[in-house]
Amino acid sequence: MTIKLLTFDLDDTLWDVESIVHRADAMMRDWIRAQHPGFVEKFDFRDFSGLREAVLRERPDIAHDFTQQRLEVLRRAFVQGGYTPAQAELAAQGAFAEFFRGRNTVEFFPGAVPALLELRRDFDLHALSNGTADIHRIGLGHVFSRHFSAISVGAAKPDPRMYLAALAAAGIAPAEAIHIGDHPQQDMAAAAAVGMNTIWLNRHGRSWPEGLLSPDAEFADFSELPALVWRLSSRS
Ligand SMILES: [Mg+2]
Repeated sequence: MTIKLLTFDLDDTLWDVESIVHRADAMMRDWIRAQHPGFVEKFDFRDFSGLREAVLRERPDIAHDFTQQRLEVLRRAFVQGGYTPAQAELAAQGAFAEFFRGRNTVEFFPGAVPALLELRRDFDLHALSNGTADIHRIGLGHVFSRHFSAISVGAAKPDPRMYLAALAAAGIAPAEAIHIGDHPQQDMAAAAAVGMNTIWLNRHGRSWPEGLLSPDAEFADFSELPALVWRLSSRS
């Protein structure tokens, strides 16, 4: 069967997410210090981790939604610092906007964008992410025809819903799609479980975890990806 759709994970597949979130968090804290100096006198930033644990514990309804989790932590922080709920809401939205600005300023892995542009000529491309990246702000709005996230489908990978949503939107069978991602469970095993082909980004030469069905192919550098896609496409 010919391959028609390529679905891509985003975080840690197209860019390193830890450094981006770390920098976005620092930008957000700088913004809070500059815009809310009175609050900073009363609130210790080290208390953020306790608030985060409380939100994770008390709000399982937003377990898949990192945006709502972060907003809820910020609201609680501002209330703890003496703000009324209305003031805290406004301040939380402002702080989050600054975080989101940093979160969507990414450094792509070498060769990632050229590979996407090349593949886009022959295949439909969807983005499938558990994270909160905004493909339009990042500059990939013209590359992906659709973007599914844990927030938009209401469940995070490895739950099959994101994969099924992409296949349904494209109107194709699972065997006509390849999922490309870095995570053995969330990306590779989950996509294989719904019947999709899989290509694993293994940048650091890790060995495949025991007990998981192996991916159909793997690569370490994006220059290798287009040829792998064509190989799977002609094989199937
Ligand atoms: Mg990832």
